[in-house]
Amino acid sequence: MRIVIVGGVAAGMSAASRARRLNPDAQIVVFERGETISYGACGLPYVISGEVATFGDLIARTPSQMRARGIGVRLGHEVTGVDPRAATITVTDHGSGRSTTEPYDRLLLATGVSPVRPDWARTPLGGVHVLRDIPDGEALDASLRGARRACVIGGGYIGLELAEALHARGLSVVLLEKGPEVAGRMLDTGLQAQVRAELERHSVDVRCGVTVQGLTGQDRVTGVQTDHGLVRADVVIVAVGVKPNVTLAQAAGARLGKSGAVAVNARQETSVPSVYSAGDNTETVHRVTRRRVHIPLGLTANRMGRIAGVNMAGGDARFPGVVGTGIFRTFGLGVARTGLTQADADALGLNALSVDVTSTDHAGYHRSSRPIHVRLTGERGTGRLLGAQLLGHNPLSVKRVDVVAALLGERATAQDLFDADLAYAPPFSSVWDVLLVAADRLHREL
Ligand code: FAD
Repeated sequence: MRIVIVGGVAAGMSAASRARRLNPDAQIVVFERGETISYGACGLPYVISGEVATFGDLIARTPSQMRARGIGVRLGHEVTGVDPRAATITVTDHGSGRSTTEPYDRLLLATGVSPVRPDWARTPLGGVHVLRDIPDGEALDASLRGARRACVIGGGYIGLELAEALHARGLSVVLLEKGPEVAGRMLDTGLQAQVRAELERHSVDVRCGVTVQGLTGQDRVTGVQTDHGLVRADVVIVAVGVKPNVTLAQAAGARLGKSGAVAVNARQETSVPSVYSAGDNTETVHRVTRRRVHIPLGLTANRMGRIAGVNMAGGDARFPGVVGTGIFRTFGLGVARTGLTQADADALGLNALSVDVTSTDHAGYHRSSRPIHVRLTGERGTGRLLGAQLLGHNPLSVKRVDVVAALLGERATAQDLFDADLAYAPPFSSVWDVLLVAADRLHREL
């Protein structure tokens, strides 16, 4: 059996490793158009900030390590076509420029996403960047040398992480966001303002409701033209969203979902026999709403890849879906969410209610305790938990979102959360942890 994988990062390499383990006889080949496999893109902002020493530290496995495990890796090889009837792909070798045809018995598309580049961002000007992979990070890092002013465009989690990183590098930072607030898709209104306040506390100039019209400069960028005037900048980072890489899936005739990502079943099979899809380019099911969603995140990509690897190798594994859990840090604030926000629930027509509790992340009498805010959302009538949003001034404190995430997967109620036997000691939590206080209040109000 020949298993061919397109894309050699989270989903692709998880699939390759799993398939290798389960089927020692299969021939497994990974085609990657870039020059690196198996790295943690999530760590890129922290190399920029200096918290991670080098880009090389983000690499988990090298091609030679994978080859030693019997997994073929072809770097600089772009897959440009799929013929499902002949069960072949067309591959272009960037080095030689030659194209060849390669057969497969099982094919995995693990092609990820690409950063959205509005027309004004498609420019030859130096100093304009996106951040998706290690070469992007290296280019940005080089661009920062000698720069004084940075403009980050986009107030999603990558933009917010970068605002902190650039500040840490000594630049003055302006953050532009088209919507009314930063972190707009992650949090409810009100909570978003706390994120903005944290940025402003660290001298980031946050401007919301601003539309970018173009960039200024001759060879190198000097500013960002907006509908609210010119923002001067030596470096511009465009972080306005991503779009799934689905060209190959379309070429294969695979169905896309409403989100624009590849539609798959729980075995990660596309609508085309023997063609699988996993990772950021792929839709999944939201376990709270039962709807199909596209939420491109690291654990999801790794897990989808693992499931695809099992199934391609002849096993049977199913991806259970996600509950929309996300977390990030900007300066001294940890931000996390899982499930639905109140706004999400309202948009779906659910009869939802939210409660807010502000407390300390561990015993208030303990010197290192910091404020933490929890918003819990539940469904009237059923008492079902729908979601949680957390903001913590000790960033690690919001990792307790995982408790709610685990319960959401089980369709638990607010009472179930209140009944949870959580760990307690003064350096870690209060005896009645803020989650339990919020669950009790939500249960009573529902
Ligand atoms: P990718 O990592 O995009 O890999 C796809 C690969 O396919 C690429 O290397 C690409 O070159 C290759 N490819 C595409 N088309 C072809 C082709 N035709 N031929 C050959 N090769 C091809 N997620 C989190 O959960 N938490 C975080 O904190 C977090 N932080 C992030 C920070 C940044 C700056 C970025 C960029 C991402 C972050 N993510 C985070 C997202 C996470 O990195 C992704 O979910 C994960 O990398 C997805 O893995 P993937 O394998 O699906 O896709």
